[in-house]
Amino acid sequence: MNTKTGRIVGVKGNLLTVEFDQAVFQNEMAYARLGEDHLKAEVVRVRGSYAELQVFEDTNGLKINDQVVFSNQLLSVELGPGLLGQVFDGLQTPLYDLSEAYGVFLKRGAYLPALDREKTWSFTPAASPGQSLRPGDFLGQVAEGPFAHQIMVPLSWSGRYTVSSIVQAGEYNIEDSVAVLTDRKGNEHEVRMLQEWPIKVPIQNYAERLRPQEPLTTRIRCIDTMFPVAKGGTYCIPGPFGAGKTIIQQLTSRYADVDVVIIAACGERAGEVVETIREFPKMTDPKTGRSLMERTIIVCNTSSMPVASREASVYTAVTLAEYYRQMGLDCLLLADSTSRWAQALREISGRLEEIPGEEAFPAYLESVIAAFYERAGIVLLHNGSQGSVTIGGTVSPAGGNFEEPVTQSTLKVVGAFHGLSRQRSDARRYPAIDPLESWSQYPSLADSEDVELAASFLRQSHEIAQMMKVVGEEGTSLQDFVIFLKGEYLDAVFLQQDAFHPVDGATGAERQKDTFAQVCSILNTELAFESKDQARSFFQTLTQTTLDWNRTPEESEEFEDLREKIKSHVAEQALYA
Ligand code: ADP
Ligand code: MG
Repeated sequence: MNTKTGRIVGVKGNLLTVEFDQAVFQNEMAYARLGEDHLKAEVVRVRGSYAELQVFEDTNGLKINDQVVFSNQLLSVELGPGLLGQVFDGLQTPLYDLSEAYGVFLKRGAYLPALDREKTWSFTPAASPGQSLRPGDFLGQVAEGPFAHQIMVPLSWSGRYTVSSIVQAGEYNIEDSVAVLTDRKGNEHEVRMLQEWPIKVPIQNYAERLRPQEPLTTRIRCIDTMFPVAKGGTYCIPGPFGAGKTIIQQLTSRYADVDVVIIAACGERAGEVVETIREFPKMTDPKTGRSLMERTIIVCNTSSMPVASREASVYTAVTLAEYYRQMGLDCLLLADSTSRWAQALREISGRLEEIPGEEAFPAYLESVIAAFYERAGIVLLHNGSQGSVTIGGTVSPAGGNFEEPVTQSTLKVVGAFHGLSRQRSDARRYPAIDPLESWSQYPSLADSEDVELAASFLRQSHEIAQMMKVVGEEGTSLQDFVIFLKGEYLDAVFLQQDAFHPVDGATGAERQKDTFAQVCSILNTELAFESKDQARSFFQTLTQTTLDWNRTPEESEEFEDLREKIKSHVAEQALYA
Protein backbone atom coordinates (compact mmCIF):
# COMPACT_ATOMS: atom_id res chain seq x y z
CA MET A 1 0.00 0.00 0.00
CA ASN A 2 1.33 3.47 -0.80
CA THR A 3 1.84 5.93 2.03
CA LYS A 4 -1.24 7.88 2.96
CA THR A 5 -0.42 11.54 3.41
CA GLY A 6 -2.07 14.91 3.88
CA ARG A 7 -1.09 18.56 4.11
CA ILE A 8 -1.58 20.93 6.99
CA VAL A 9 -4.10 23.70 6.25
CA GLY A 10 -4.46 25.04 9.79
CA VAL A 11 -2.62 25.00 13.13
CA LYS A 12 -4.36 26.02 16.35
CA GLY A 13 -2.46 25.02 19.49
CA ASN A 14 -2.17 21.24 19.40
CA LEU A 15 -4.93 20.96 16.83
CA LEU A 16 -4.10 20.59 13.14
CA THR A 17 -6.51 20.75 10.25
CA VAL A 18 -5.24 18.49 7.50
CA GLU A 19 -6.48 18.01 3.96
CA PHE A 20 -6.14 14.41 2.75
CA ASP A 21 -6.90 12.50 -0.44
CA GLN A 22 -7.28 8.87 0.73
CA ALA A 23 -9.81 7.96 3.40
CA VAL A 24 -8.61 8.42 6.98
CA PHE A 25 -10.53 7.25 10.03
CA GLN A 26 -11.47 8.44 13.51
CA ASN A 27 -8.70 7.82 16.08
CA GLU A 28 -6.19 6.89 13.37
CA MET A 29 -2.58 7.62 14.25
CA ALA A 30 -0.58 10.02 12.13
CA TYR A 31 2.75 11.83 12.22
CA ALA A 32 3.33 15.47 11.38
CA ARG A 33 6.73 15.94 9.71
CA LEU A 34 8.86 18.62 11.25
CA GLY A 35 12.28 18.40 9.66
CA GLU A 36 13.79 15.19 11.03
CA ASP A 37 11.13 14.86 13.72
CA HIS A 38 7.85 13.00 13.48
CA LEU A 39 5.28 14.42 15.86
CA LYS A 40 2.72 11.83 16.89
CA ALA A 41 -0.94 12.78 16.44
CA GLU A 42 -4.39 11.24 16.48
CA VAL A 43 -7.35 11.93 14.20
CA VAL A 44 -10.08 13.39 16.41
CA ARG A 45 -12.60 14.38 13.73
CA VAL A 46 -13.09 13.74 10.03
CA ARG A 47 -15.23 16.08 7.89
CA GLY A 48 -15.30 15.71 4.09
CA SER A 49 -11.71 15.72 2.89
CA TYR A 50 -10.46 17.45 6.06
CA ALA A 51 -9.37 15.84 9.29
CA GLU A 52 -8.65 17.44 12.64
CA LEU A 53 -5.63 15.99 14.37
CA GLN A 54 -4.63 16.32 17.99
CA VAL A 55 -0.83 16.44 18.20
CA PHE A 56 0.62 14.78 21.30
CA GLU A 57 3.29 17.40 21.77
CA ASP A 58 4.30 20.94 21.17
CA THR A 59 3.43 22.03 17.62
CA ASN A 60 5.83 24.98 17.52
CA GLY A 61 7.37 25.24 14.05
CA LEU A 62 4.65 23.38 12.16
CA LYS A 63 3.43 25.40 9.17
CA ILE A 64 0.72 25.39 6.54
CA ASN A 65 1.51 22.90 3.75
CA ASP A 66 3.74 20.74 5.99
CA GLN A 67 3.26 17.04 5.42
CA VAL A 68 1.34 14.59 7.62
CA VAL A 69 1.73 10.83 7.22
CA PHE A 70 -1.22 8.64 8.25
CA SER A 71 -0.48 5.21 9.75
CA ASN A 72 -3.65 3.22 9.02
CA GLN A 73 -3.56 2.19 12.68
CA LEU A 74 -5.44 3.12 15.81
CA LEU A 75 -3.52 4.54 18.75
CA SER A 76 -2.13 1.37 20.34
CA VAL A 77 0.03 0.16 23.20
CA GLU A 78 2.63 -2.56 23.35
CA LEU A 79 1.81 -5.61 25.43
CA GLY A 80 4.28 -8.24 26.58
CA PRO A 81 6.75 -9.12 29.33
CA GLY A 82 8.49 -6.12 30.87
CA LEU A 83 5.50 -3.91 31.60
CA LEU A 84 5.52 -4.43 35.37
CA GLY A 85 7.60 -1.96 37.35
CA GLN A 86 7.58 0.63 34.60
CA VAL A 87 6.56 4.27 34.62
CA PHE A 88 5.06 5.43 31.33
CA ASP A 89 3.49 8.58 30.04
CA GLY A 90 0.04 8.48 28.45
CA LEU A 91 1.51 7.30 25.15
CA GLN A 92 3.49 4.55 26.87
CA THR A 93 6.87 6.25 26.53
CA PRO A 94 8.96 4.86 29.40
CA LEU A 95 9.74 7.75 31.72
CA TYR A 96 12.51 6.07 33.66
CA ASP A 97 14.66 5.92 30.58
CA LEU A 98 13.67 9.38 29.53
CA SER A 99 14.33 10.83 32.93
CA GLU A 100 17.86 9.53 32.72
CA ALA A 101 18.28 10.96 29.27
CA TYR A 102 16.32 14.19 29.43
CA GLY A 103 14.86 14.72 32.89
CA VAL A 104 11.29 13.67 33.58
CA PHE A 105 9.93 15.65 30.67
CA LEU A 106 9.93 14.51 27.15
CA LYS A 107 12.05 15.85 24.39
CA ARG A 108 9.90 16.53 21.39
CA GLY A 109 9.73 13.64 18.95
CA ALA A 110 11.58 11.29 21.35
CA TYR A 111 9.66 8.05 21.19
CA LEU A 112 11.36 5.29 23.07
CA PRO A 113 9.71 1.91 22.61
CA ALA A 114 7.63 0.91 25.64
CA LEU A 115 9.26 -2.48 25.99
CA ASP A 116 12.91 -3.44 25.92
CA ARG A 117 13.78 -5.21 22.65
CA GLU A 118 17.10 -6.63 23.80
CA LYS A 119 16.24 -8.13 27.15
CA THR A 120 15.71 -11.89 27.01
CA TRP A 121 13.11 -13.88 28.93
CA SER A 122 13.15 -17.51 29.86
CA PHE A 123 10.24 -18.94 27.86
CA THR A 124 8.60 -22.27 28.71
CA PRO A 125 6.24 -23.59 26.02
CA ALA A 126 2.84 -24.88 27.08
CA ALA A 127 1.22 -25.63 23.69
CA SER A 128 2.26 -28.32 21.25
CA PRO A 129 2.10 -28.75 17.46
CA GLY A 130 -1.30 -29.76 16.15
CA GLN A 131 -3.18 -28.05 18.97
CA SER A 132 -6.09 -25.81 17.99
CA LEU A 133 -6.05 -22.41 19.69
CA ARG A 134 -7.91 -19.13 19.63
CA PRO A 135 -6.75 -15.58 20.37
CA GLY A 136 -5.91 -15.20 24.06
CA ASP A 137 -5.07 -18.89 24.54
CA PHE A 138 -1.75 -19.54 26.22
CA LEU A 139 1.26 -20.69 24.20
CA GLY A 140 3.73 -20.65 27.04
CA GLN A 141 4.99 -18.46 29.83
CA VAL A 142 7.87 -16.42 31.18
CA ALA A 143 8.47 -15.31 34.76
CA GLU A 144 7.81 -11.61 35.28
CA GLY A 145 8.13 -10.27 38.82
CA PRO A 146 6.02 -12.49 41.06
CA PHE A 147 3.89 -13.87 38.21
CA ALA A 148 3.89 -16.33 35.36
CA HIS A 149 3.38 -13.97 32.44
CA GLN A 150 1.33 -15.92 29.90
CA ILE A 151 2.32 -15.57 26.26
CA MET A 152 -0.91 -15.62 24.30
CA VAL A 153 -2.09 -16.06 20.76
CA PRO A 154 -2.33 -12.34 19.83
CA LEU A 155 -5.58 -10.87 21.12
CA SER A 156 -6.19 -8.96 17.90
CA TRP A 157 -6.28 -12.11 15.76
CA SER A 158 -9.59 -13.79 15.03
CA GLY A 159 -10.83 -17.32 14.46
CA ARG A 160 -9.01 -20.53 15.18
CA TYR A 161 -5.40 -21.50 14.53
CA THR A 162 -3.43 -24.72 14.58
CA VAL A 163 0.02 -24.74 16.14
CA SER A 164 2.53 -25.62 13.37
CA SER A 165 5.60 -25.26 15.50
CA ILE A 166 6.66 -23.86 18.84
CA VAL A 167 10.16 -23.14 20.13
CA GLN A 168 11.83 -25.14 22.87
CA ALA A 169 12.30 -23.76 26.35
CA GLY A 170 14.99 -21.10 26.28
CA GLU A 171 15.92 -17.44 26.32
CA TYR A 172 14.12 -15.22 23.82
CA ASN A 173 13.57 -11.52 23.40
CA ILE A 174 10.09 -10.11 22.81
CA GLU A 175 10.57 -9.83 19.03
CA ASP A 176 11.78 -13.39 18.53
CA SER A 177 9.29 -15.73 16.94
CA VAL A 178 8.19 -18.27 19.56
CA ALA A 179 5.54 -20.13 17.55
CA VAL A 180 4.12 -20.49 14.06
CA LEU A 181 0.35 -20.87 13.80
CA THR A 182 -1.68 -21.82 10.72
CA ASP A 183 -5.09 -20.28 10.09
CA ARG A 184 -8.07 -22.04 8.50
CA LYS A 185 -7.00 -20.99 5.02
CA GLY A 186 -3.59 -22.55 5.53
CA ASN A 187 -1.66 -19.31 5.95
CA GLU A 188 1.15 -19.31 8.47
CA HIS A 189 1.58 -16.59 11.12
CA GLU A 190 4.48 -16.03 13.47
CA VAL A 191 3.83 -15.25 17.13
CA ARG A 192 6.14 -13.05 19.18
CA MET A 193 5.90 -12.25 22.85
CA LEU A 194 5.25 -8.63 21.88
CA GLN A 195 1.78 -7.71 20.70
CA GLU A 196 -0.20 -4.48 20.25
CA TRP A 197 -3.70 -3.39 21.13
CA PRO A 198 -5.66 -0.19 20.33
CA ILE A 199 -6.26 1.58 23.63
CA LYS A 200 -9.78 2.79 23.01
CA VAL A 201 -11.14 -0.68 22.21
CA PRO A 202 -11.93 -3.02 25.13
CA ILE A 203 -10.23 -6.44 25.04
CA GLN A 204 -13.05 -8.96 24.87
CA ASN A 205 -11.38 -12.36 24.58
CA TYR A 206 -13.40 -14.09 27.25
CA ALA A 207 -16.27 -16.56 27.52
CA GLU A 208 -18.51 -14.56 29.81
CA ARG A 209 -18.75 -11.46 31.98
CA LEU A 210 -19.70 -12.31 35.55
CA ARG A 211 -21.40 -10.25 38.23
CA PRO A 212 -18.89 -8.57 40.55
CA GLN A 213 -19.73 -10.03 43.96
CA GLU A 214 -16.55 -11.25 45.59
CA PRO A 215 -15.28 -8.60 48.01
CA LEU A 216 -12.01 -6.94 47.12
CA THR A 217 -10.54 -6.25 50.54
CA THR A 218 -8.55 -3.07 50.87
CA ARG A 219 -7.88 -3.45 54.63
CA ILE A 220 -9.50 -0.07 55.13
CA ARG A 221 -12.32 -0.90 57.57
CA CYS A 222 -14.65 1.85 56.51
CA ILE A 223 -14.48 0.62 52.92
CA ASP A 224 -14.52 -3.16 53.33
CA THR A 225 -17.20 -3.30 56.01
CA MET A 226 -19.38 -0.27 55.32
CA PHE A 227 -18.89 0.68 51.65
CA PRO A 228 -17.27 -2.35 50.01
CA VAL A 229 -15.68 -2.77 46.62
CA ALA A 230 -16.04 -5.99 44.59
CA LYS A 231 -13.48 -7.62 42.33
CA GLY A 232 -14.33 -6.39 38.86
CA GLY A 233 -16.41 -3.54 40.26
CA THR A 234 -16.07 0.23 40.06
CA TYR A 235 -15.91 2.97 42.66
CA CYS A 236 -15.37 6.66 42.91
CA ILE A 237 -13.64 8.79 45.54
CA PRO A 238 -14.56 12.44 45.19
CA GLY A 239 -13.12 14.91 47.63
CA PRO A 240 -11.74 18.40 47.93
CA PHE A 241 -8.02 19.12 47.75
CA GLY A 242 -6.18 17.75 50.79
CA ALA A 243 -9.01 15.47 51.95
CA GLY A 244 -6.91 12.33 51.53
CA LYS A 245 -7.68 10.94 48.05
CA THR A 246 -4.08 10.23 47.18
CA ILE A 247 -3.35 8.64 50.58
CA ILE A 248 -6.34 6.30 50.20
CA GLN A 249 -5.13 5.30 46.75
CA GLN A 250 -1.63 4.62 48.04
CA LEU A 251 -3.01 2.47 50.85
CA THR A 252 -5.23 0.54 48.47
CA SER A 253 -2.43 -0.05 45.99
CA ARG A 254 -0.43 -1.56 48.81
CA TYR A 255 -3.03 -3.58 50.64
CA ALA A 256 -5.80 -4.39 48.17
CA ASP A 257 -6.22 -8.08 47.62
CA VAL A 258 -5.20 -8.03 43.93
CA ASP A 259 -2.28 -9.19 41.82
CA VAL A 260 -1.44 -6.22 39.61
CA VAL A 261 -1.92 -2.53 40.38
CA ILE A 262 -2.01 0.07 37.61
CA ILE A 263 -1.87 3.70 38.63
CA ALA A 264 -3.07 6.36 36.22
CA ALA A 265 -1.58 9.42 37.88
CA CYS A 266 -3.08 12.57 36.42
CA GLY A 267 -1.69 15.40 38.47
CA GLU A 268 -2.51 19.06 38.62
CA ARG A 269 1.08 19.96 39.22
CA ALA A 270 4.16 18.14 37.99
CA GLY A 271 5.23 17.87 41.64
CA GLU A 272 2.34 15.58 42.51
CA VAL A 273 3.27 13.12 39.83
CA VAL A 274 6.97 13.23 40.60
CA GLU A 275 5.99 12.49 44.21
CA THR A 276 4.04 9.43 43.11
CA ILE A 277 6.98 8.20 41.05
CA ARG A 278 9.31 8.73 44.01
CA GLU A 279 7.01 7.25 46.66
CA PHE A 280 6.03 4.03 44.93
CA PRO A 281 9.42 2.38 44.57
CA LYS A 282 9.97 3.03 48.29
CA MET A 283 6.77 1.29 49.32
CA THR A 284 7.11 -2.33 50.28
CA ASP A 285 4.65 -4.96 49.21
CA PRO A 286 3.10 -6.55 52.34
CA LYS A 287 2.66 -9.79 50.34
CA THR A 288 6.31 -10.23 49.43
CA GLY A 289 8.27 -7.75 51.56
CA ARG A 290 9.88 -6.50 48.35
CA SER A 291 9.20 -3.33 46.39
CA LEU A 292 5.57 -2.71 45.50
CA MET A 293 6.76 -1.63 42.04
CA GLU A 294 7.36 -5.29 41.12
CA ARG A 295 3.64 -5.69 40.52
CA THR A 296 2.76 -2.10 39.71
CA ILE A 297 2.69 -0.03 36.52
CA ILE A 298 2.41 3.75 36.67
CA VAL A 299 0.97 5.70 33.76
CA CYS A 300 1.41 9.34 34.54
CA ASN A 301 0.91 12.77 33.12
CA THR A 302 0.77 16.32 34.35
CA SER A 303 -1.06 19.38 33.16
CA SER A 304 2.19 20.55 31.56
CA MET A 305 2.08 17.56 29.23
CA PRO A 306 0.09 17.93 26.00
CA VAL A 307 -3.63 17.54 26.33
CA ALA A 308 -3.94 14.56 23.98
CA SER A 309 -1.40 12.57 25.96
CA ARG A 310 -3.38 13.32 29.11
CA GLU A 311 -6.55 12.19 27.42
CA ALA A 312 -4.91 8.93 26.32
CA SER A 313 -3.46 8.01 29.71
CA VAL A 314 -6.52 6.40 31.29
CA TYR A 315 -7.09 4.28 28.17
CA THR A 316 -3.48 3.17 28.14
CA ALA A 317 -3.82 2.25 31.82
CA VAL A 318 -7.03 0.27 31.41
CA THR A 319 -5.66 -1.60 28.40
CA LEU A 320 -2.66 -2.73 30.44
CA ALA A 321 -5.05 -3.89 33.18
CA GLU A 322 -7.17 -5.84 30.68
CA TYR A 323 -4.06 -7.51 29.30
CA TYR A 324 -3.05 -8.89 32.73
CA ARG A 325 -6.67 -9.87 33.36
CA GLN A 326 -6.40 -12.14 30.30
CA MET A 327 -3.79 -14.13 32.24
CA GLY A 328 -6.33 -14.89 34.96
CA LEU A 329 -5.05 -12.19 37.32
CA ASP A 330 -6.93 -9.66 39.44
CA CYS A 331 -5.97 -6.13 38.45
CA LEU A 332 -6.77 -2.85 40.13
CA LEU A 333 -6.72 0.38 38.16
CA LEU A 334 -6.55 3.53 40.25
CA ALA A 335 -7.07 6.78 38.41
CA ASP A 336 -6.07 9.90 40.38
CA SER A 337 -7.64 12.26 39.47
CA THR A 338 -10.20 11.72 36.74
CA SER A 339 -11.05 15.43 36.94
CA ARG A 340 -7.76 16.19 35.19
CA TRP A 341 -8.65 13.72 32.49
CA ALA A 342 -12.07 15.32 32.07
CA GLN A 343 -10.35 18.70 31.77
CA ALA A 344 -8.32 17.31 28.87
CA LEU A 345 -11.58 16.24 27.21
CA ARG A 346 -12.92 19.74 27.77
CA GLU A 347 -9.86 21.34 26.21
CA ILE A 348 -10.02 19.13 23.12
CA SER A 349 -13.74 19.72 22.71
CA GLY A 350 -13.21 23.47 23.09
CA ARG A 351 -10.58 23.54 20.37
CA LEU A 352 -12.88 21.58 18.07
CA GLU A 353 -15.48 24.28 18.82
CA GLU A 354 -18.08 21.68 19.70
CA ILE A 355 -21.34 22.75 21.32
CA PRO A 356 -20.47 22.69 25.02
CA GLY A 357 -22.49 21.00 27.75
CA GLU A 358 -22.56 21.85 31.44
CA GLU A 359 -19.54 23.85 32.72
CA ALA A 360 -18.12 23.76 29.16
CA PHE A 361 -17.47 20.02 29.37
CA PRO A 362 -18.36 18.25 26.14
CA ALA A 363 -21.99 17.20 25.89
CA TYR A 364 -20.86 13.57 25.58
CA LEU A 365 -18.84 13.65 28.86
CA GLU A 366 -21.25 11.26 30.56
CA SER A 367 -21.00 8.61 27.85
CA VAL A 368 -17.20 8.87 27.73
CA ILE A 369 -16.99 8.38 31.50
CA ALA A 370 -19.48 5.50 31.36
CA ALA A 371 -17.53 3.78 28.56
CA PHE A 372 -14.32 4.05 30.59
CA TYR A 373 -15.79 2.49 33.76
CA GLU A 374 -17.52 -0.21 31.69
CA ARG A 375 -14.08 -1.63 30.97
CA ALA A 376 -14.00 -2.88 34.56
CA GLY A 377 -15.33 -6.39 35.06
CA ILE A 378 -14.77 -9.89 36.27
CA VAL A 379 -14.66 -12.39 33.41
CA LEU A 380 -14.60 -16.10 32.85
CA LEU A 381 -11.80 -16.84 30.41
CA HIS A 382 -12.00 -19.56 27.76
CA ASN A 383 -9.68 -21.76 29.84
CA GLY A 384 -12.10 -21.70 32.78
CA SER A 385 -10.12 -19.34 35.02
CA GLN A 386 -11.29 -15.90 36.11
CA GLY A 387 -9.63 -12.54 35.81
CA SER A 388 -10.77 -9.10 36.86
CA VAL A 389 -10.22 -5.40 36.37
CA THR A 390 -11.47 -3.18 39.18
CA ILE A 391 -11.51 0.57 38.56
CA GLY A 392 -11.34 3.18 41.30
CA GLY A 393 -11.25 6.80 40.25
CA THR A 394 -10.81 9.90 42.37
CA VAL A 395 -12.58 13.11 41.43
CA SER A 396 -11.40 16.48 42.65
CA PRO A 397 -14.31 18.87 42.22
CA ALA A 398 -13.56 22.54 42.74
CA GLY A 399 -14.46 23.53 46.29
CA GLY A 400 -15.49 19.95 47.05
CA ASN A 401 -18.87 20.54 45.40
CA PHE A 402 -20.18 17.12 44.28
CA GLU A 403 -22.90 18.70 42.13
CA GLU A 404 -20.51 19.24 39.25
CA PRO A 405 -20.62 17.24 35.96
CA VAL A 406 -17.62 14.93 36.47
CA THR A 407 -18.73 13.73 39.91
CA GLN A 408 -22.33 13.42 38.81
CA SER A 409 -21.52 11.51 35.59
CA THR A 410 -19.25 9.15 37.53
CA LEU A 411 -21.86 8.54 40.24
CA LYS A 412 -24.30 7.28 37.62
CA VAL A 413 -22.04 4.43 36.56
CA VAL A 414 -20.01 3.26 39.57
CA GLY A 415 -20.98 0.58 42.06
CA ALA A 416 -19.63 2.31 45.15
CA PHE A 417 -19.15 5.89 46.25
CA HIS A 418 -16.63 6.99 48.88
CA GLY A 419 -17.30 10.69 49.32
CA LEU A 420 -14.60 12.50 51.27
CA SER A 421 -15.72 15.36 53.44
CA ARG A 422 -13.81 18.53 54.21
CA GLN A 423 -15.37 18.58 57.67
CA ARG A 424 -14.00 15.14 58.48
CA SER A 425 -10.53 15.84 57.14
CA ASP A 426 -10.42 19.18 59.01
CA ALA A 427 -11.33 17.28 62.18
CA ARG A 428 -8.56 14.79 61.27
CA ARG A 429 -11.09 11.97 61.18
CA TYR A 430 -9.20 9.83 58.66
CA PRO A 431 -9.99 8.28 56.29
CA ALA A 432 -12.32 11.21 55.65
CA ILE A 433 -14.95 9.02 53.94
CA ASP A 434 -18.29 10.53 54.90
CA PRO A 435 -20.39 7.68 56.33
CA LEU A 436 -23.63 9.57 55.79
CA GLU A 437 -23.08 10.30 52.09
CA SER A 438 -21.21 7.22 50.91
CA TRP A 439 -22.81 4.05 49.60
CA SER A 440 -22.05 0.74 47.92
CA GLN A 441 -24.04 -1.78 45.93
CA TYR A 442 -21.57 -4.59 46.64
CA PRO A 443 -21.81 -7.15 49.43
CA SER A 444 -19.94 -6.39 52.67
CA LEU A 445 -17.68 -8.91 54.32
CA ALA A 446 -19.68 -8.28 57.51
CA ASP A 447 -23.19 -9.34 58.39
CA SER A 448 -25.64 -7.10 56.50
CA GLU A 449 -27.86 -6.56 59.56
CA ASP A 450 -24.88 -5.30 61.50
CA VAL A 451 -23.97 -2.93 58.66
CA GLU A 452 -27.50 -1.51 58.77
CA LEU A 453 -27.37 -1.23 62.53
CA ALA A 454 -24.10 0.69 62.35
CA ALA A 455 -25.43 3.00 59.62
CA SER A 456 -28.53 3.70 61.68
CA PHE A 457 -26.46 4.61 64.77
CA LEU A 458 -24.30 6.95 62.67
CA ARG A 459 -27.38 8.68 61.29
CA GLN A 460 -29.10 9.04 64.66
CA SER A 461 -25.90 10.16 66.32
CA HIS A 462 -25.43 12.84 63.66
CA GLU A 463 -29.01 14.09 64.08
CA ILE A 464 -28.64 14.28 67.83
CA ALA A 465 -25.33 16.14 67.44
CA GLN A 466 -27.05 18.68 65.17
CA MET A 467 -29.84 19.11 67.65
CA MET A 468 -27.41 19.50 70.53
CA LYS A 469 -25.80 22.40 68.72
CA VAL A 470 -29.14 24.20 69.10
CA VAL A 471 -30.48 23.04 72.45
CA GLY A 472 -27.19 22.26 74.17
CA GLU A 473 -26.32 19.18 76.15
CA GLU A 474 -28.78 20.15 78.93
CA GLY A 475 -31.65 20.11 76.47
CA THR A 476 -30.82 16.58 75.32
CA SER A 477 -32.21 13.50 77.02
CA LEU A 478 -29.81 11.02 78.62
CA GLN A 479 -31.13 8.38 76.26
CA ASP A 480 -30.33 10.47 73.16
CA PHE A 481 -26.99 11.42 74.61
CA VAL A 482 -26.03 7.75 74.90
CA ILE A 483 -27.02 7.13 71.27
CA PHE A 484 -24.83 10.07 70.31
CA LEU A 485 -21.90 8.63 72.26
CA LYS A 486 -22.39 5.19 70.72
CA GLY A 487 -22.24 6.70 67.22
CA GLU A 488 -19.08 8.61 68.13
CA TYR A 489 -17.57 5.44 69.56
CA LEU A 490 -18.25 3.50 66.35
CA ASP A 491 -16.73 6.32 64.34
CA ALA A 492 -13.63 6.62 66.53
CA VAL A 493 -12.74 2.94 66.84
CA PHE A 494 -13.94 1.50 63.56
CA LEU A 495 -14.39 4.06 60.79
CA GLN A 496 -11.28 6.02 61.70
CA GLN A 497 -8.01 4.29 61.10
CA ASP A 498 -4.47 5.51 61.54
CA ALA A 499 -2.93 5.02 58.09
CA PHE A 500 0.58 5.35 59.47
CA HIS A 501 0.29 2.82 62.31
CA PRO A 502 1.88 -0.58 61.54
CA VAL A 503 -1.06 -2.55 62.97
CA ASP A 504 -4.04 -0.20 62.79
CA GLY A 505 -3.05 0.97 59.31
CA ALA A 506 -4.28 -2.22 57.62
CA THR A 507 -6.97 -4.53 58.99
CA GLY A 508 -7.41 -7.92 57.33
CA ALA A 509 -10.86 -9.34 56.57
CA GLU A 510 -11.06 -11.74 59.54
CA ARG A 511 -10.01 -9.12 62.03
CA GLN A 512 -12.49 -6.64 60.60
CA LYS A 513 -15.32 -9.12 61.04
CA ASP A 514 -14.21 -9.81 64.60
CA THR A 515 -13.85 -6.15 65.61
CA PHE A 516 -17.06 -5.13 63.87
CA ALA A 517 -19.10 -7.89 65.53
CA GLN A 518 -17.78 -6.81 68.92
CA VAL A 519 -18.50 -3.12 68.28
CA CYS A 520 -22.01 -3.95 67.05
CA SER A 521 -22.74 -6.02 70.13
CA ILE A 522 -21.82 -2.97 72.21
CA LEU A 523 -24.17 -0.81 70.12
CA ASN A 524 -26.90 -3.38 70.82
CA THR A 525 -26.26 -3.43 74.56
CA GLU A 526 -28.60 -1.28 76.65
CA LEU A 527 -26.47 0.67 79.08
CA ALA A 528 -27.56 2.17 82.39
CA PHE A 529 -26.12 5.52 83.43
CA GLU A 530 -27.02 7.91 86.19
CA SER A 531 -25.74 11.00 84.44
CA LYS A 532 -24.32 12.29 81.18
CA ASP A 533 -20.96 12.76 82.87
CA GLN A 534 -20.91 9.14 83.87
CA ALA A 535 -21.83 8.11 80.30
CA ARG A 536 -19.16 10.35 78.84
CA SER A 537 -16.43 9.03 81.08
CA PHE A 538 -17.53 5.43 80.41
CA PHE A 539 -17.21 5.95 76.65
CA GLN A 540 -13.88 7.74 77.01
CA THR A 541 -12.39 4.71 78.72
CA LEU A 542 -14.08 2.32 76.30
CA THR A 543 -12.77 4.23 73.29
CA GLN A 544 -9.25 4.33 74.65
CA THR A 545 -9.21 0.60 75.39
CA THR A 546 -10.61 -0.22 71.95
CA LEU A 547 -8.03 2.00 70.24
CA ASP A 548 -5.32 0.15 72.17
CA TRP A 549 -6.87 -3.09 70.99
CA ASN A 550 -6.77 -1.85 67.36
CA ARG A 551 -3.06 -1.18 67.71
CA THR A 552 -2.27 -4.62 69.14
CA PRO A 553 -1.16 -7.48 66.87
CA GLU A 554 -3.67 -10.34 66.77
CA GLU A 555 -1.07 -12.94 67.65
CA SER A 556 -0.06 -11.22 70.90
CA GLU A 557 -1.35 -12.25 74.36
CA GLU A 558 -2.40 -8.70 75.01
CA PHE A 559 -4.91 -8.93 72.19
CA GLU A 560 -7.22 -11.34 74.06
CA ASP A 561 -6.62 -9.50 77.33
CA LEU A 562 -7.83 -6.26 75.82
CA ARG A 563 -10.86 -7.96 74.32
CA GLU A 564 -11.79 -9.23 77.80
CA LYS A 565 -11.15 -5.81 79.29
CA ILE A 566 -13.57 -4.24 76.80
CA LYS A 567 -16.20 -6.89 77.48
CA SER A 568 -16.05 -6.56 81.25
CA HIS A 569 -16.08 -2.77 81.05
CA VAL A 570 -19.32 -2.97 79.06
CA ALA A 571 -20.80 -5.69 81.27
CA GLU A 572 -20.42 -3.47 84.33
CA GLN A 573 -22.68 -0.87 82.77
CA ALA A 574 -25.13 -3.18 81.00
CA LEU A 575 -28.75 -2.86 82.03
CA TYR A 576 -29.50 -6.59 81.82
CA ALA A 577 -26.18 -7.95 82.98
P1 ADP B 1 -5.72 14.85 48.26
O1 ADP B 1 -5.11 13.83 47.35
O2 ADP B 1 -7.19 14.59 48.48
O3 ADP B 1 -5.46 16.24 47.87
P2 ADP B 1 -3.83 13.78 50.17
O4 ADP B 1 -4.13 12.33 50.01
O5 ADP B 1 -2.61 14.29 49.51
O6 ADP B 1 -5.09 14.67 49.72
O7 ADP B 1 -3.82 14.08 51.73
C1 ADP B 1 -3.43 15.33 52.26
C2 ADP B 1 -2.86 15.17 53.66
O8 ADP B 1 -3.87 14.75 54.60
C3 ADP B 1 -1.79 14.10 53.77
O9 ADP B 1 -0.53 14.59 53.45
C4 ADP B 1 -1.88 13.68 55.23
O10 ADP B 1 -1.16 14.56 56.06
C5 ADP B 1 -3.33 13.84 55.56
N1 ADP B 1 -4.03 12.54 55.47
C6 ADP B 1 -4.82 12.15 54.45
N2 ADP B 1 -5.32 10.91 54.67
C7 ADP B 1 -4.82 10.51 55.85
C8 ADP B 1 -4.96 9.31 56.64
N3 ADP B 1 -5.72 8.28 56.22
N4 ADP B 1 -4.31 9.26 57.81
C9 ADP B 1 -3.56 10.27 58.23
N5 ADP B 1 -3.38 11.42 57.55
C10 ADP B 1 -4.00 11.56 56.37
MG1 MG C 1 -4.08 14.03 45.57
